[in-house]
Amino acid sequence: MKERELRRVLTTLVLFSGLLSCISTAQETSDHRPNRIIIHAGKLLEVKTGKTLSDQGVVIEGDKIVSVGPMAQVQRSTGDRLTDLPNATVLPGLTDAHTHLTGDPRNIGYQSLGISIPRATLTGARNARVTLEAGFTTVRNVGAEGYSDVALRDAIDAGDIPGPRMLVSGPALGITGGHCDEDLLPFEYHATAEGVADGVEGVQHKAREVIQYGADLIKICATGGVLSKGDNPQASQYTLEEMKAIVAEAHRLGRKVAAHAHGAQGILWASQAGVDSIEHGSYIDDAAIAEMKKHGTYLVPTLYLGDWFLEHATENRVPDFLLVKAKAVMPAARRNVAHAFASGVKVAFGTDAAVYPHGLNAHEFAVMVKLGLTPLQAIQAATVNAADLLGRSDKIGSVEPGKWADIIAVDGEERVKFVMKGGTMVKNDYAK
Ligand SMILES: [Zn+2]
Repeated sequence: MKERELRRVLTTLVLFSGLLSCISTAQETSDHRPNRIIIHAGKLLEVKTGKTLSDQGVVIEGDKIVSVGPMAQVQRSTGDRLTDLPNATVLPGLTDAHTHLTGDPRNIGYQSLGISIPRATLTGARNARVTLEAGFTTVRNVGAEGYSDVALRDAIDAGDIPGPRMLVSGPALGITGGHCDEDLLPFEYHATAEGVADGVEGVQHKAREVIQYGADLIKICATGGVLSKGDNPQASQYTLEEMKAIVAEAHRLGRKVAAHAHGAQGILWASQAGVDSIEHGSYIDDAAIAEMKKHGTYLVPTLYLGDWFLEHATENRVPDFLLVKAKAVMPAARRNVAHAFASGVKVAFGTDAAVYPHGLNAHEFAVMVKLGLTPLQAIQAATVNAADLLGRSDKIGSVEPGKWADIIAVDGEERVKFVMKGGTMVKNDYAK
């Protein structure tokens, strides 16, 4: 290349990079948050009372809500940015208390063995975005390999990628050969899942270890499960003593405990041991319900997944040994959870997204209502109740002054057209 040409290329590059820096400055200026954002909500659902208020103004400064009241009374000043949602119903951002963002429905059973931890983390980056756009501004991620969930949470918090606020568990604690061990491979592979720990001392050490590497909560496998080989969902796995030791360790270190439990005795023991939530609860019976009500243990049912999972089992090459269990557990879960709903256990919203595609989380609402919750109770499960279960009632779960500006808007049922997280617009289909 001749020198003149080289110089031209260089000049172009310099000009272009100058232009780029102009663009980024311009973006900074236009993105620079003015003093306040005011959302005009045609309707605002007060999730605590079920009241729908008309023409409300939600005033946001930085990442927080500073006031909520009649739009006519909002004192507007220059620099305020108005987001007008006159025909929408505004709600707090939703919380899904049971996700696996780094998991994918195509990778169930033996397929999962071909997925590396870095690949799973990147899958998680996609799923985080999809989940946030579906209106879920917070998730509790209960089980991931290799602390991929910790990396994902930290990348979202750093603003590197879009996603919901995440509380993460790291690997789930479980017994040797249990639902949360790696039982797909024969002995000679010497494969053990990261969360496996047995005996009181063993589980104490493991609880400390997952906290060391970034867990916000502890997930345990109290009973067998559906998507694992060779175990029985109805059989208890951790003993009462082991679970008591985990709960004592976790609570002392400021972490809550979520217990995967299908079988009735495992649910009872987990609640007795003091766990904060029972996940799935498929074979919950009257004794377990009574224990949970006594201790205030939340139930996080995950019911919609059955429909999708069974419908797509063939295309996702789900092995027969999993399908047999799914066909037995999923219908039983619906009957028993409906009974638990009628008995008045505390319920928080969860989906087990990963067993079915992320972003369809809101489908769980319809199943909850079909099984006996009122629509308001179902919404409360994903807002005020989930916030309470996560220990974040001061920050999320309602549109109130002092809370993070995590806000969504809908017009039909289950159609989220507007999402804001911490005062930053994620999506606004109304502006299109
Ligand atoms: Zn799960």
